[in-house]
Order: sequence, then structure tokens, then C-alpha cells
Amino acid sequence: MKTLVMKFGGTSTSNVKALNRAADIVVAQHGAWDRMVVVVSAMEGVTDMLIDCAEGSLSKDKARYQVIIDQLRDNLNAVVWAIFAGDHSYEKLNALIDTRLQELTNICQRIQLQGKSSPRDMDEIAAMGERINVHVFSALLGKRRVRSQAIEATNLIVTDDCYQAASPIQTATDARVDAVLSPLFADAIIPVVTGFIGATPNGTTTTLGRGGSDYTAAILGVSLKADQVWIWTDVDGIMTVDPNLSSRARLIPEISYNEVYQLAYSGARVLHPKTILLAREGDIPLWVKNTFNSECNGTRISHCSLSDRSTISAVTGFFDINLITFRTIPGGDVNKIKALLRAALKNRGTTTLAVFQAKHDRSVSFAFSANNSNHAIQIIREDGALRSHGWNFSQPQVIEKVALITLVGREIYLTPQALSLATSTLNKAGIDIKRIGNGTSPDSLVFAVANKDGEYAINKIHDEVILNDPLISTIPQPVLKHLSTI
Ligand code: ASP
Ligand code: MG
Repeated sequence: MKTLVMKFGGTSTSNVKALNRAADIVVAQHGAWDRMVVVVSAMEGVTDMLIDCAEGSLSKDKARYQVIIDQLRDNLNAVVWAIFAGDHSYEKLNALIDTRLQELTNICQRIQLQGKSSPRDMDEIAAMGERINVHVFSALLGKRRVRSQAIEATNLIVTDDCYQAASPIQTATDARVDAVLSPLFADAIIPVVTGFIGATPNGTTTTLGRGGSDYTAAILGVSLKADQVWIWTDVDGIMTVDPNLSSRARLIPEISYNEVYQLAYSGARVLHPKTILLAREGDIPLWVKNTFNSECNGTRISHCSLSDRSTISAVTGFFDINLITFRTIPGGDVNKIKALLRAALKNRGTTTLAVFQAKHDRSVSFAFSANNSNHAIQIIREDGALRSHGWNFSQPQVIEKVALITLVGREIYLTPQALSLATSTLNKAGIDIKRIGNGTSPDSLVFAVANKDGEYAINKIHDEVILNDPLISTIPQPVLKHLSTI
């Protein structure tokens, strides 16, 4: 059975124009697939306002959360009025918005009284945006005479109780998906499912982490063994460089799961990282497409990549990083120490962004976001395995304000040509390279440079290494369109 899961993000549902475009896309695909599921996230900015509300109820200014709730009501009512005034759904949607915002007010009042909020409260609150938006989107499809049903994923996606970053329990989810969605498919009804949220086996609302609607699409894609998952957003796809940093950014037509994961891990705003891992595991092709330029094919993410034929797919930068260097004692085994350090950090759940090893001075350096680095040092000091190995390390050396410039491409770390090309480009540009290493896989090559050189380094690598690749320069490009230009 040909199955498609499509997800519309916040910018694709943020106003009347965007909602209508998203509905046009669903209407155009309707009939082309045996089964189709639409995942919808909250309208842009709504989740931030909800979280502000929860935080506001803890602030001294007692009126703050009420002001935000009023603002939310005005915004939502304006969209609903513009689309549905005079329609039978209008009253229903307004009543739904009132009910949800009343629940929100009640939770905020309780938080204010107690003077504290729990992660569970935060999820209950953060989930409201999606729980409203699925009804709006389903009513909009109804106006287009497409049969759909709004589904709140608290009844569909079963998760653990790790609030604010819950993980799905796939077998329990599969059973629910079959029970809830199969009858709808049989009646040719399109399920319109809330992104971002789920519930524990006993029904308490959870969220999958910020940006988690992508993850919802992948979870449902795996459950339904979908042929494709399409993520609709406001750019044409994944680009060779952040278009905010370079006007010469080019669309990548095809990229591998590993490369996109590395990009997401290295600071690029692409997809929710768990989405990529899950799709890779389930072997489901993901597409990133532009709601506002739907004729453009977008980027296909699968096991194949453009860099199967070229060297590098993309470059990205992560700024304000701390680099912590540990030196082994003379005669010490730097590889062994590196493995123990990695294990100590991983066991305590600390994210290491990149690892660099320098043979000449027996040192190993780890890159952390600035707010993680003290904690990382602490973990290493306390680690029993390192101590029992007899490693008594010197004071770690910390270099602050570093930028990590990550190049991704199939096995790029093992490709001497890529390394020499990138290194000579940076050297020629007079950029001081502090370290060279890799990120989470051999599909990445990472240069550490000073923050102040970061943007220049990205542009140099992009223009002189990526764009000089004959394959990349011949890929036809769509006209770039962004939401702001529409
Ligand atoms: N609405 C949620 C957020 O803003 C989930 C999402 O957008 O994917 O994080
Ligand atoms: Mg989003």
C-alpha cells in the first residue's frame, strides 16, 4: 500500500496564507496515495508563548501569564475568523480554543499557588499549541471537501515518562497506530495528527523535545512502513551552507542520513536529530520540501548521497565552543585515555561535539558548548575508570570562544584529498587552525578555529571547496524563496 506521511511545521501553518498553501498541498496529493497521514505542529511562535506562560506563572509579576494567554487567544481567534467566519466550524473552533486556554489558565494558576512547576506540567502546557492546530487544519481540509480527522497523539504515540524529551515505545505505538488509524484509512479519511506530543502508557501527556514534530512524522512513518516522509518547511531543502551566512548557498538534491545527522549535530538547523536516526533505522526516505515553493523537489535524505560522486556535501558552523585539552603523561597511551574519556562522558550523558587528537604532544581535546564544559571537567575528575587506569592528568587546558567548522561528505574524514583541500584553503586565507578532527562519524571533518574567524572560514570552504566541485556547480537550482518574501 503506497503510504505517505507529511509534516507541516510552524511556519507552514503560522497564518492564513501558509495554512491555505499547506491545505493545497494535501489536496494535490490526495488520491495519489493509498494511505496518507498529515502531522501538524503548533503555529509558529505558539509553543514559545506557552512556555513563556508557564514561566510567567512563576514570576513575581502575577499578571504576566494572563497577558500572554490573552495574546494567544487574539492570535488564534484572528486566524480562525479569517478562514472560517460564516462557516459551521467557526463556533466549534472558537469553543475549542476557549476550552484549551481555560485549561492553560487553570494549570498556570496552580503553578502560581504552588510556587513551582514540574516537567510534567511543562509538557501539559507545551502540548496545547498542537492540540489546537490539528483541529484548525482538519476543519480547513473539510472546507476543501477532503475528509479528515484531527487526532491528538496522546492516544497514538506511547512514550516513556521522560518529560520534555520523551522517547517512543515503538511496539505499543504500532498497536495504537493500527487500532486508531486503520479504520480511518479504510474510510478514506486522512488523519491529521498532532506533532511533538505523546503520552505515557497511563495517558499522561509528554513531549518529544523542541522541534519534535519531525520526530512524530518519522515515528508514524516507521509504524506504517511508509514509502516516504515529507517534511514541509519554509526553505527549499537542505543547503550546502546556511543561506543566512552565504548568498551562494545551493540546494542539495540528495544527501545521506549520516550526513544530515552530522549537520544537525553540528549546529545546522535542519531536522530534529532523532528523526534522522529513526528514519535511517527504518530505511524510510525523508524529504525536506518548501511549502511556499512546492514545485521544487526539495532534498531527499536516504542512504544515498550526492557526495557518493563528489567529496563534500555541505559545511556548517558551531560558535561559542570551549575546547578542553588533556595531556597524557610521557609514555602514556593516548588512544586508551581517549577511549576512557569518551566513555566517562558518554556514561554521564554529556554531549561531546567533536574530538581532536594530537600525536606530537600526546594530547586529546574535546569540544563542548560553553555551558557544558565545567560539568564535563567535573565528570572526568570523578571518573573511577580513569583513576584506576592510573591516569593522573594535568590541569586541563581550556580554550574558549572557538568555532567548529564541520564539513560533511561520505567518509570525508578518511579522504586525504578533502583534508588537504580544506586545510590549504584555510591556510591560504590566513586562518589559524587550532585543531582538526571528526564529529560523530567518518562522514565529518571538523576544524576548530577562533570564533572571530568562523564565518570567514565557512565562506572560504563553501566558495572555494564546495562550489569548485564540478558536480555541485552543475546541479540546477530552484529560485530561492523564503517566507518573508511572500
Ligand atoms: N511546536 C513544537 C516546537 O515549537 C514542536 C515543533 O515545532 O516541531 O518545538
Ligand atoms: Mg518547528
